Amino acid sequence: MTPTRVFLFDLDGTLVDSGGAGRRAFEQSWADVLARPHPFDGVPFSGCTDIEILQAGARRDLGRPLDDDELARFLARYLEVLPSMLNDLPPDAVLPGVRPLLDALADRGDCLLGLCTGNIEPGARAKLAPWDLNRYFAFGGFGSDAVDRTQMTGHAIRRARERAAGPVRILVIGDSIRDAVAARGNGVRVALVASGKTPADRLQAQAPDLFFDSLVEWRDVLARFLDTAP
Ligand SMILES: [Mg+2]
Repeated sequence: MTPTRVFLFDLDGTLVDSGGAGRRAFEQSWADVLARPHPFDGVPFSGCTDIEILQAGARRDLGRPLDDDELARFLARYLEVLPSMLNDLPPDAVLPGVRPLLDALADRGDCLLGLCTGNIEPGARAKLAPWDLNRYFAFGGFGSDAVDRTQMTGHAIRRARERAAGPVRILVIGDSIRDAVAARGNGVRVALVASGKTPADRLQAQAPDLFFDSLVEWRDVLARFLDTAP
């Protein structure tokens, strides 16, 4: 069956609650590579791409962005320390409803699943690996594709269209205002779920196409994703 529906999932706060592991890995990597106290207190992470976060910290601490060599060394160190930060998480950090929802979507021949996350791809894969979630996502758009989330989302959409090789309806699913802005910037629909850092009322103020407090009522979520709700 040819896929006619595409679902592009954000990672942190949407699929998984990594309990700040990414932030701690950023802090540790900065201290290790720059040999300075990290500058990330108060820097927003939610909905931002990794390089966007990193350079915001760099401008704050150094008054300039990291150069290419510093950036490469930081990201290499980040990928070294991230798995150990994830070891400290509870036995299952997958958000409620996510597994059965992904199973149900993956079982349908008309649905294509992808990632749409500000994490650099190897960081995203590392965050999903402990929970065996990578198997649902053969492709995506990542923070390693673009610094700007709208452009990053555009890469996810382009790859989805290449795979589908026909007309598709695309839905981006995320937990932050930035997910909505980036989806709209690409002319696709967005579902917001209040399982991350952004309060429900602020998400609803974006007037998303779909809104959920969580994905726990996954059968209802699935029906609304497929536009089959009564
Ligand atoms: Mg998120």
